[in-house]
Amino acid sequence: MMKTVIIGGGVAGLSLAIAMRNAGYVVTVCERDERSSSNGHAFLIHPDAMAVLERVVETDPYHLMPGRTIDRLLLKNADDDVLDDMALDGWVCMKRCEAMQALASQLPPEVIQYGRSFSHFIFENEKAVAVVFANGDIEYGDWFIGCDGARSAVRQALFGPTDYTPVLVKEILGTIDKRELLERNPHMFTKYLSRDKGLAIGFIPCSDVELIWFLQFDVNLCQTSINTQEEIAAFCKEVVREFPEEVKQIMECKSVVANYVWNTTDFELLPTFHDRNVLLIGDAAHVALPFTSAGVANALLDVNCFMQALGETTDFETICKTMHITRGPHLKNHVAMGREIRASFLQGSDKSVKLPLIKDMAVLAD
Ligand SMILES: Cc1cc2nc3c(=O)[nH]c(=O)nc-3n(C[C@H](O)[C@H](O)[C@H](O)COP(=O)(O)OP(=O)(O)OC[C@H]3O[C@@H](n4cnc5c(N)ncnc54)[C@H](O)[C@@H]3O)c2cc1C
Repeated sequence: MMKTVIIGGGVAGLSLAIAMRNAGYVVTVCERDERSSSNGHAFLIHPDAMAVLERVVETDPYHLMPGRTIDRLLLKNADDDVLDDMALDGWVCMKRCEAMQALASQLPPEVIQYGRSFSHFIFENEKAVAVVFANGDIEYGDWFIGCDGARSAVRQALFGPTDYTPVLVKEILGTIDKRELLERNPHMFTKYLSRDKGLAIGFIPCSDVELIWFLQFDVNLCQTSINTQEEIAAFCKEVVREFPEEVKQIMECKSVVANYVWNTTDFELLPTFHDRNVLLIGDAAHVALPFTSAGVANALLDVNCFMQALGETTDFETICKTMHITRGPHLKNHVAMGREIRASFLQGSDKSVKLPLIKDMAVLAD
């Protein structure tokens, strides 16, 4: 029977594996990290993306997935003036590691092979026949799907080095264990913007006990290294000075942990998402800047598009071409929107404020 090897067990890889198995296909997911990995960040997910997830995994995602619903976005400036206060209507914030555990629970354990980092493909007669991992393991298959994220090694193996745009904005993310704060604003995303520069800090509840915090900043504001926990803490302490007392107090909590420094970048739409019998899906295929909070939605829309095309034909080449024709224009638009919001962010809130979310999923998919 025909077998699909999926490289990368993130949102794209795991939801694709679930959908393909539900449709009767044999799949293996090869994931670089170990099972116990608690990869540090969190997602804010659009309700329409949850609906796509439901279609893809055929399970009620609000029941399956962890996290907190977020129903309000409060945007303020550094003087505590309200810039915007809007209903969000059922977005969900969840920790990535918990979300991956929930998706993995929908697959038999033998389907996911952990600790396998992609090394290269073995090609025979102009077709990939196997994938080789850094630990020496080899997995044979008929179709290969690279779902290995923004810094995809599969993309590099197919198309050479990616032309990433320079990092103009970095983001530090972490968690805070603070019930009092959650009790006050149990479903609210609060974001404070600097008035005159590219600097913002935000808080989003992600469980019954924890919030995610993030600090976005123009790279020019950070002239020192922020590699260690101490360096990150010192930098955060310095830059939060301009924000209201409430923000400073939150950031002084003992439970504030920084988990992740994100060097945000993107790249132009690839001319194709596939080469021979290898296809890219999710961040491996396309990356946009973070401001739109639509990376997960895009990964799920890719999976949905793949499954719809697979429902029409089992010709891999046709499926891959359909993916690019269908998804390409939306993804190109998404990259442009991320850049527009970044430009507005870098000016500070006195000059311009663009909503830091894609609210209308129609811009991502028809
Ligand atoms: C800090 C941060 C915050 C974000 N916040 C949001 C948000 O609020 N909302 C939103 O929608 N999106 C957000 N995103 C973007 C979102 O995380 C991605 O768009 C989404 O996870 C893409 O899913 P994916 O499965 O394509 O890639 P990933 O989730 O990156 O998964 C890729 C998987 O491949 C594995 N892998 C990598 N290299 C290899 C290799 N060589 N061999 C084998 N496996 C490999 C990785 O371990 C990982 O499990 C955020 C991203 C970051 C970094």
